[in-house]
Amino acid sequence: MKPDLFEAPDYYNLDDLFSEEHKLVRDAAREWVKRDVSPIIETYAQKAEFPKQIIGGLAEIGAFGPYIPENYGGAGLDQISYGLIMQEIERGDSGVRSTASVQSSLVMYPIWKYGNEEQRQKYLPKLASGAFMGAFGLTEPNHGSNPGGMTTNYKDMGDHYLLNGAKLWISNAPFCDVSVVWAKNEEGRIHGLIVERGMEGFSTPETHNKWSLRASATGELIFQDVKVPKENLLPNKSGLGAPLGCLDSARYGIAWGAIGAAMDCYDTALRYAKERVQFGKPVAGFQLQQKKLAEMITEITKAQLLAFRLGQLKNEDKASSAQISMAKRNNVDMALKVAREARQILGGMGITGEYSIMRHMMNLESVVTYEGTHDIHLLITGLDITGLNAFK
Ligand SMILES: Cc1cc2nc3c(=O)[nH]c(=O)nc-3n(C[C@H](O)[C@H](O)[C@H](O)COP(=O)(O)OP(=O)(O)OC[C@H]3O[C@@H](n4cnc5c(N)ncnc54)[C@H](O)[C@@H]3O)c2cc1C
Repeated sequence: MKPDLFEAPDYYNLDDLFSEEHKLVRDAAREWVKRDVSPIIETYAQKAEFPKQIIGGLAEIGAFGPYIPENYGGAGLDQISYGLIMQEIERGDSGVRSTASVQSSLVMYPIWKYGNEEQRQKYLPKLASGAFMGAFGLTEPNHGSNPGGMTTNYKDMGDHYLLNGAKLWISNAPFCDVSVVWAKNEEGRIHGLIVERGMEGFSTPETHNKWSLRASATGELIFQDVKVPKENLLPNKSGLGAPLGCLDSARYGIAWGAIGAAMDCYDTALRYAKERVQFGKPVAGFQLQQKKLAEMITEITKAQLLAFRLGQLKNEDKASSAQISMAKRNNVDMALKVAREARQILGGMGITGEYSIMRHMMNLESVVTYEGTHDIHLLITGLDITGLNAFK
């Protein structure tokens, strides 16, 4: 793969709006990605393997629990810093960002928000340091966009719960130490349970043959009469709103992360177009290529402003789920379109692993589907503005 020469586009001087802390956090993540992710990521994506050696680095840049308070091992940062960390990581690879998103927003967040003090003390510091890796089990073979229909369930056996069911498409599953699993009790109410590797009847087979997020491990969570200790139930929130609250936090991070992938594609295409000569001049000098590049930077800039404003709303605890849906949908769609255009600018070279664009493009095909599909987020906006539910 080519050396990482990334220069971040900032067409509307967003840097002027960031605090010194935001820039410090972002620059540390940016440097780490250049040093520890870019040189190895193509190889790991090609062999479809998560590079476990970067776990310590992810913890060091604050990617595991950026906004979780420091007394639980988190970085105690604001939501814009969280977003910027996700942007920089996904600039490197969406699969690596997925691992960080799951750990922070889908495992640490529910333990922090819905767990009791004992659970927080037991799990959060280990998850923040990367000593424990986590997974989030919501999706099932027959319930993806409609998680409320889940059939995974547990029964109260007096001194423990008995968990049965299966989860599919679970990021980090193959190597997770703990997983936050959503299951129905005997009354049909959804609760979160912390399931640990090693519990009898719990297995995590890997899902192979993905053309997308190849550097992220995906798998199943299978529960066959798993005895879960009662103290592993998250006591402070139940119902579908509990997992959806986690998804709000993760989707917000994705809205920023996708910008990173788009920035990398744009920067790569711009550099290539200025260097590649055809018909006696750089291809960047042709109007058709300028149209692509000009539209890319316009869309990236709009997405940056959307994410920044959403970050301000998140910091004030005023961001609605529908606002987060709009940003996730828009920014991932934007990144996917930027990746497709950027790939064309590189001609034949665009399909090789010499450049990051094709990998970003394939990765984004998952990002546009997970954490609520492109269609589902549109329906959320539709419901929000009309008051009419078009899901069913
Ligand atoms: C790589 C990867 C990693 C993932 N990681 C996780 C994870 O860590 N944890 C987890 O719990 N899940 C995870 N997921 C699952 C992901 O969230 C689901 O794939 C997603 O929610 C869509 O569900 P589905 O694939 O079952 O599609 P379906 O729900 O079957 O949807 C199929 C199509 O129908 C459309 N559709 C569905 N309902 C409607 C409707 N009402 N109106 C109009 N169109 C509709 C959808 O938009 C989609 O186009 C992951 C998925 C992938 C691919």
